[in-house]
Amino acid sequence: MPKGTRRVRAGYESPWASARAAGPWAIVAAVKPAPNSPCPCYSGTKYKRCCRPAHRGALPNAPKDLMRARYSAFALGLARFVMDTTHPEGSSFEADRAQWERSILHFAGSTSFDGLEIVETSGNDREGHVTFKATLRQGEQDASFTERSRFLRESGAWLYHSGDVEASS
Ligand SMILES: [Zn+2]
Repeated sequence: MPKGTRRVRAGYESPWASARAAGPWAIVAAVKPAPNSPCPCYSGTKYKRCCRPAHRGALPNAPKDLMRARYSAFALGLARFVMDTTHPEGSSFEADRAQWERSILHFAGSTSFDGLEIVETSGNDREGHVTFKATLRQGEQDASFTERSRFLRESGAWLYHSGDVEASS
């Protein structure tokens, strides 16, 4: 089974398109961006200094850091990271993990992740809110949206709880 070793850079084409063409088994092979590539969360920082530590298990310090890591996890098809950082009482939590993983990978594979902008953050050390604008494209369609997300801290770890979509762009 080929491992995803393509470099990921800003504005890259979704690598999932070719992964899917190779067969259904290929879709679960996560893409590994080179450590020195720009982070898929558009921070302007190298992946190894931005979201990779979180993807490898380091706890993000603040909700906005988790927000970035979740965005880049979607972009890279790291479904387990997305699931593991979702609050079990949150609106997007799904009990059927296999089904949930498939739907995340389907979303990741059919979406181009073209930009992330953190608009506003607020909160305290137990609950935080992050308003962000995600620039996404699905085929020819603009799938961008602005969301105000709610994060809760459980046993020291920030988790995504839910979000209100404020407006399409
Ligand atoms: Zn990042």
